[in-house]
Amino acid sequence: MKHCLYCESIIKGRKDKKFCNPYCKSAYHNIKNQDKEDTLFKKIDTQLKKNRKILKGFNKAGFVTIRQEKLLKEGFDPKYFTHYWKNQKGQVYLFCYEYGFLELKEYTKKKYLLIIWQEYMNRS
Ligand SMILES: [Zn+2]
Repeated sequence: MKHCLYCESIIKGRKDKKFCNPYCKSAYHNIKNQDKEDTLFKKIDTQLKKNRKILKGFNKAGFVTIRQEKLLKEGFDPKYFTHYWKNQKGQVYLFCYEYGFLELKEYTKKKYLLIIWQEYMNRS
């Protein structure tokens, strides 16, 4: 005897049926999709908080230059950020909440300039 994957009631009819009716089928798939969405949300949320914690940990002075690999070693992932700020030189600082970082490409060893969000960055 087969049971519906969603409501677990007994399925009558064809052997390959997984659901007792179309409603159960769509309800089941909606829940599965919701799970996927929640997992992605949590993954991003966790990484953003981790990034913020790492930036905060390395940026005690409020303005510091640091080797990129030091942050990466701690689990920092620059793909995840909350917003950005472009200065007058056109440099784009990426932020994880109030902690920002700018990749400095002029060095042979990649470095980040770390800053903290300032009130004046809201303007422009
Ligand atoms: Zn059912």
